[in-house]
Amino acid sequence: MNRAECLAADRADPLRRWRDEFILPRGRIYLDGNSLGPLSRTGRARLKAVIEREWARDLIQSWTKNGWVDGSTRIGAKIAPLIGAKPAEVIVADSTSVNLFKALAGALALRPERRVIVSERGNFPTDIYMAEGLAKLLGQGHELRLVDGDVTAALGPDVAAVMVTEIDYRTGARHDMAAVTRAAHEAGALTIWDLSHSVGAMPIALNRAAADFAVGCGYKYLNGGPGGPAFLFVAARHQDGFVQPLSGWLGHADPFEFASAYRPARGILRAICGTPPVLSMAALEAGVDLMRKIDMKTLRAKSLALTDLFIARVEERCAGHGLVLATPREHARRGSQVSFRHKDGYAIVQALIARDVVGDFREPDFMRFGFAAPYLRFVDVFDAAEHLRAVLESGEWKRAAFRKKRKVT
Ligand SMILES: *Cc1c(COP(=O)(O)O)cnc(C)c1O
Repeated sequence: MNRAECLAADRADPLRRWRDEFILPRGRIYLDGNSLGPLSRTGRARLKAVIEREWARDLIQSWTKNGWVDGSTRIGAKIAPLIGAKPAEVIVADSTSVNLFKALAGALALRPERRVIVSERGNFPTDIYMAEGLAKLLGQGHELRLVDGDVTAALGPDVAAVMVTEIDYRTGARHDMAAVTRAAHEAGALTIWDLSHSVGAMPIALNRAAADFAVGCGYKYLNGGPGGPAFLFVAARHQDGFVQPLSGWLGHADPFEFASAYRPARGILRAICGTPPVLSMAALEAGVDLMRKIDMKTLRAKSLALTDLFIARVEERCAGHGLVLATPREHARRGSQVSFRHKDGYAIVQALIARDVVGDFREPDFMRFGFAAPYLRFVDVFDAAEHLRAVLESGEWKRAAFRKKRKVT
């Protein structure tokens, strides 16, 4: 597509109207919605209302009067259709890391005779670290079996749980959720899916895949705000037997009984621990409300068209500069990001940011570009590839300032 064709594609885009719902700095091409989604107009209004009306005026009465007390289940139920779950199977609480800990602990308790947790060596580090920490804490000899490539090759009679991130955070490669879950179940293992890079970016069908547990992030494609809470899915069939170790008071059957012994609540409520972060929940709810209005099939089609376009433009315009595509070309195997590898990837990304084209970098050499279909235009993708070409052709990335590693890359 040339630039005029991109502009025409934007005019014909069925998602065109959603861009105006987001607050995007003028002139910036934001390709980092896979790491921190932007603020929406409704999110800003909602936060203002929660601060000024609910917190400042209604104070403690807000827990019931303004529905704070039911936020975890209410927002969980709203996320459910985005991930192919039933409303009573999803709850919002804590962070992705903490939810993963709870889900994995619950899965291991359901397979007491098995001792192996299978995951990918390239999985997002927090998932691996949390599993390591849990295994050590349990002190029952659980072993983390990390594999390169196909996780199902590591299945066996000793495997309790398979822990996979649906979309790889570095390459943007997508796992076949149904196939991996089927293989895990055939081997007698349970699955824990991390949906951090898929939720809000494509349709997800947890129940159709018969997934057991899932966690996911609220501040990426759901636009729930920095540090916003995460969600946890427990399939209905596992809820009665779900035992998680962070048995806080709000997961108790009757928190305001203030009983001295813990009795888990029925259903998904037992998955929560303590008091929810109300301000962050409000921001997340606004983000989720917005995403629920967007048809996920339409969004996925646009996301694939945007990533196709970026791959094609970069390969055409940046040839000869040593960029290596790390993202699968096959649609079914791709998430909503495109990554290129380059040994100077960090400096190149910094030079792009200086041009107001915001992507990010992941060790050792991945330049990541996320494509959030609700607000990105085809012309943004076109222009981003032109900026990348300019950065490479001019060599401006070689400036010393672009090589200095920051704390957040
Ligand atoms: C972003 C991300 C997380 C984030 O975990 P936090 O606990 O919210 O910091 C976890 N897992 C994956 C796969 C992610 O992409």
